[in-house]
Amino acid sequence: MKILVVGGAGYIGSVCAELLLDAGHAVCIFDNLSEGHLRAVDGRAEFIEGDLSGSDQIQSALTEFRPEAVMHFAASALVAESMEKPSKYFRNNIGNGLNLLDAMVATGVKQLVFSSTCAIFGPPERLPIDETLPKRPINPYGESKLAFEKILHWYSEIHGLKFVSLRYFNAAGASEKFGEEHRVETHLIPNVLKVALGQKPQVEIYGTDYETPDGTCIRDYIHILDLSQAHILALKSSKSEFYNLGTGGGTSVREVIEACRKITGHKIPVLEKPRRPGDPARLVAASDKIQRELGWQPKFQRIDAIIESAWRWHQEFPNGYGD
Ligand code: UDP
Repeated sequence: MKILVVGGAGYIGSVCAELLLDAGHAVCIFDNLSEGHLRAVDGRAEFIEGDLSGSDQIQSALTEFRPEAVMHFAASALVAESMEKPSKYFRNNIGNGLNLLDAMVATGVKQLVFSSTCAIFGPPERLPIDETLPKRPINPYGESKLAFEKILHWYSEIHGLKFVSLRYFNAAGASEKFGEEHRVETHLIPNVLKVALGQKPQVEIYGTDYETPDGTCIRDYIHILDLSQAHILALKSSKSEFYNLGTGGGTSVREVIEACRKITGHKIPVLEKPRRPGDPARLVAASDKIQRELGWQPKFQRIDAIIESAWRWHQEFPNGYGD
């Protein structure tokens, strides 16, 4: 197939583009490089530097490349930042997303795979989180993604857009070529590994008084290769659908740090800090629906395997993409 990967120079988009190319698809990456990196653009893909703040650039890209499907990764994706700058999240994730959808309608592109998030659920009333649980986001990031899911439903009903919305839990790890690199790093695993690389003196733990066995937040870390595989399967979906995407395993912040100590051989000092606003205590996915309906099967169930891949990548690229 011909796939336009919007946001394909970012962490998740770059690995998805790589796997699409490996599977023999033709890929064009559309990215404004605000969060993405030129060196994360797979050399086998076409590249268009473009922005979704209007419909014109994306419409030209769709007209030129004529994809059969779009994968949409371009978004603002930090919980804490969304608690400080809600406007940025509503504009980027809803307004700019609408520009993409309208350009797809105008150019007759009918298939979309969308990056959604477990943050649409807020604190769950039971675990693991399946698709039927109420959606009550507690931060503007989750709210913006939930709003866009509702928009997708109506574009599907009215314009015949076929979409698959994948609600990621915590994407982590790396492929051989591409890994997690943000200019301002807020994510747990890369921050711990930066300590092991000698680039940071210690890692901060945000909150040690949560109602969890060791007091720190529990997340469901999913290997970026497993997550990317779900996107490839989503292209074959016969209907518009929403799927939760995690491994079903919960790992606390302290357990992540301990696993990193074991893998890197570094002591990794910690500094205990207050809670970070907007963080629920536990988020663990039930992914039975995507396993049943699309045949998705995670290959990397253990946090160690995920961290080992991240550590390999960070050792090979200690300065990330260097931009
Ligand atoms: N976290 C932490 N120290 C850090 C970064 C993150 O304690 O330097 C915690 C954060 O509060 C959350 C978990 O680690 O409970 C995962 O955070 P991350 O930002 O990686 O992903 P999120 O769950 O926000 O998508």
